[in-house]
Amino acid sequence: MIFLDAAATTPVRREVLEAMWPFLTGEFGNPSSHHSLGASAATALADARKTVANVLGCRPGEVTFTSGGTEADNLAVKGMALARQAADPALNRMVISAVEHPAVEESARYLERFHGFTVDVVPVDHAGRVTAEALAAVLRPETALVSIMYANNEVGTVQSVADLAAVAREQGVPFHTDAVQAAGWLPLDVKALGVDALSISGHKLGAPKGCGVLFVRGRTRVEPLVHGGGQERGRRSGTENVAGAVGLATALTLAHADQERRAATVVRLRDAFITAVLEGVPGAVLTGDPVNRLPSIASFCFPGTSGESVLLELERQGVVCSSGSACAAGSDSPSAVLLALGIGGELAQTAVRFSFDASVTEADLDAAAAAVQAAVGRVRTLGHMPG
Ligand code: PLP
Repeated sequence: MIFLDAAATTPVRREVLEAMWPFLTGEFGNPSSHHSLGASAATALADARKTVANVLGCRPGEVTFTSGGTEADNLAVKGMALARQAADPALNRMVISAVEHPAVEESARYLERFHGFTVDVVPVDHAGRVTAEALAAVLRPETALVSIMYANNEVGTVQSVADLAAVAREQGVPFHTDAVQAAGWLPLDVKALGVDALSISGHKLGAPKGCGVLFVRGRTRVEPLVHGGGQERGRRSGTENVAGAVGLATALTLAHADQERRAATVVRLRDAFITAVLEGVPGAVLTGDPVNRLPSIASFCFPGTSGESVLLELERQGVVCSSGSACAAGSDSPSAVLLALGIGGELAQTAVRFSFDASVTEADLDAAAAAVQAAVGRVRTLGHMPG
């Protein structure tokens, strides 16, 4: 099988599993316990926090471990917006982009439904980019928070986060970015990015599912979503997932150490794959920004097919990929991200996303490009198979 769905998830790296193993077995303590087992778990958790902080260029106290990217996004969007509204009830607007992951978008909609917020959606251009001007145009004195993703999970477009964060900062509005897809591929220095909050998920990086991180700058107030024993400095109660935190810290360090080299290698392979698909499949359209895109994502529309049919045909040929984001897969409605890029509903239904991790090879992608050509040809000849 050629696995080209790394944006959905990745296997756990051996080094990560080895780093986690002690905390799943002999060193199984609860970090809050006042005995030696507890103390060694607490030390492991503190070390993992320091390791993550080193990669992000922040202080350990600014790192909160969560149950994944979704929780990190929820905590940032709801927690920061609600804390600002509590301090000043006039702050009741929230800005997101038109291409956010549901973890951000649905959190904003929740604020709208239950907390009197109005959500302002910044449009994107045909490449999926938010411009500084477009952001400036939607900011209001009542804006409590801006949340714009670093890199898109469906089309791979990378935003100029530093420029966008600067626009928000000029107006005194905190800025959160969902860096779940960017982590491991793009620089994550939170000072250089100028962001106040940033989310990461472990399982996109070679750590297990169910662990994530939210960075929140300095004294920024965050209303917790999960109440209880006050762990994670009161931001996220619940016995900590020590092994998960250790795994995430290990995976992040490994990916970061080697980030520029692996990004450069994968960009070269990705571009060759994009060229092969565009040349081999008549009418194929690359979606997202042709230049400012994640090394790891190549996404297309194949007119005259359905994405789901192409997907099934590709799987029969041993190539596994996705027809959109994993969350939207299986749904009949066209991707909201593609519609936001100005792609028509019918064309949007023909979308297929290929995403890679650093282990992808030239031979894999040569074989995959040939399989795509054959799969699209077959679907066009046979007509759509039910998705
Ligand atoms: N944000 C983005 C951009 C994602 O791609 C994903 C996962 O697909 C998430 C958030 C959610 O992360 P998790 O699966 O860890 O909850």
